[in-house]
Amino acid sequence: MVKELVAYRICPKCARAVPLESEEKFCSNDGTKLLEACATCQAPITSPYARFCSHCGTEFKFSKEMK
Ligand SMILES: [Zn+2]
Ligand SMILES: [Zn+2]
Repeated sequence: MVKELVAYRICPKCARAVPLESEEKFCSNDGTKLLEACATCQAPITSPYARFCSHCGTEFKFSKEMK
């Protein structure tokens, strides 16, 4: 029994979400690299509206890799 998780990439700058299966790696709004999983615990992002990791509570935003 395989449980399929729908996961998303989220833009840490404007909180835009795209499905993980899409080819988008960078936000089409601002060119920021999309966050693919929680930077702290690597948990997948399972809600397109998530602003925080549901696993460890880390906020989805980059402090360093901002470009
Ligand atoms: Zn963006
Ligand atoms: Zn986490």
